[in-house]
Amino acid sequence: MKIVHAASELFPYVKTGGLADAVASLAGTLADHGHEVSVFLPGYRAALEHPEVAGAARKLRLKIEMGDQFLTGDVRVFSPRKNLQVYLVCREEFFDRRNPYGTGERDYEDNADRFIFFCKGVVETLRLADLQADVVHCHDWQTALLPLLVRDAERKHGVTLAVKTVFTIHNIAYQGLFPRSVFARTNLPEDLNNIDGLEYYEQTNLLKGGILFADRVTTVSPRYAKEIQTPEFGNGLDGVVQTREDDIVGFVNGVDMAVWNPATDELLPARYSMANLAGKQACRGELARQCGFGSQFKGPVFGVVCRFAEQKGLELLLANRGFFITQECRLVVLGSGEKRYVDALRELSAQAPSKVFLSVKLDEKMSHLIEAGSDFFVMPSLFEPCGLNQMYSQIYGTVPIVSRVGGLIDTVVDIDESPETGTGIMCAPTTEGIGEGLHRALKLYADKPRLAAVQRRGMSRDFSWRAAAEGYERLYQESL
Ligand code: ADP
Repeated sequence: MKIVHAASELFPYVKTGGLADAVASLAGTLADHGHEVSVFLPGYRAALEHPEVAGAARKLRLKIEMGDQFLTGDVRVFSPRKNLQVYLVCREEFFDRRNPYGTGERDYEDNADRFIFFCKGVVETLRLADLQADVVHCHDWQTALLPLLVRDAERKHGVTLAVKTVFTIHNIAYQGLFPRSVFARTNLPEDLNNIDGLEYYEQTNLLKGGILFADRVTTVSPRYAKEIQTPEFGNGLDGVVQTREDDIVGFVNGVDMAVWNPATDELLPARYSMANLAGKQACRGELARQCGFGSQFKGPVFGVVCRFAEQKGLELLLANRGFFITQECRLVVLGSGEKRYVDALRELSAQAPSKVFLSVKLDEKMSHLIEAGSDFFVMPSLFEPCGLNQMYSQIYGTVPIVSRVGGLIDTVVDIDESPETGTGIMCAPTTEGIGEGLHRALKLYADKPRLAAVQRRGMSRDFSWRAAAEGYERLYQESL
């Protein structure tokens, strides 16, 4: 099949979260399966500065209609592996910036224009380069207009650009919600500017376009596919998602085993496997050294790596700050994002500097070291469409402590509910729930044979992309 993906992030060129990993692994796996895969990405500064991209050839010039203006841009293309082409839709004014979406505090004011331009650049390239896609698969709000724009361009130019469109919701909390006036920039027919189209309470909601108008809709875990049809998790779009109730499916993201595998991980100071965990101890020692924990401490190391956003439940972790101060244990937190969390975590770390370590940055290497060197990995998320770190943790022999929500339910088995098969600790997403989970972790840590059995079961789980990629392949085939 000829499969075109469009997304606003792609590992290793630009990443703020799991979206980048998911799109890269899915596209790579499909390419390995022999499909002809193209991925479209905005030509961000970070991507253009990446060594692999430096030699990317200019493919074509764009002239994009945006409302009553025309904006120019260009498209660069390179091939990072067999069967895979990456297209960068470039326009300096929009994408030559430090971050993809905004400064830490605020989104860029022109995000609507930036991503409408990107989507139109994708459609224009499909047409001008005659890519003849079987499937155009788009991801999240930044590309949610594509199903509509593809069909609109086909009508205007009397061509077929894509046989089918697929839209994946990676996180329904981010919707691309803009003032109503933004609709004019899409140049779509006015009959889509109402409640059955993109309008949402007097605003323009781009995500809604993807949910309503793609041929197929998917999300990143079966549990999340159900949750987003409820008011609790639907972020106001539960009714819209319900209209696709019969054909929304969830595939759990896989793990890119070329990147996340303790036996081959070059970012670690030592490698290890289920048969020999000595390397894990070495990683733990190095982590403790980097965090200033000293070498002679008792108790487990708890690790956290996440975006500092409300979703990640840091509030629940912070409400349990007393645990980390009074108990025999260590806590290391890596992340970046909202200032209120940075401040609160800094305060906690200042209170107990030899026990709590905070690093506020994006640090790929450190994230691997935390996965490998921690004894437990904490994810107190309020909601979690899929989540990746709980899977990385299991593969790395690090026991996940997770909220009982979304994809975490689909990927972690609780050790008390299922003593024979358990791989982690599941908690209610409340202060008490997480507190209880932390205490259960201490108990498990004290029982070394049981801890070793839980680690082994986690490490032997198959979280590879094979299952998910096959799910998407089946979906493409069926829809065609
Ligand atoms: P989300 O997409 O909601 O952020 P996921 O768990 O799906 O959450 O994916 C997060 C990804 O981003 C993981 O690969 C995680 O290791 C990574 N990540 C998050 N924060 C950082 C950071 N500060 N440094 C390095 N990697 C990070």
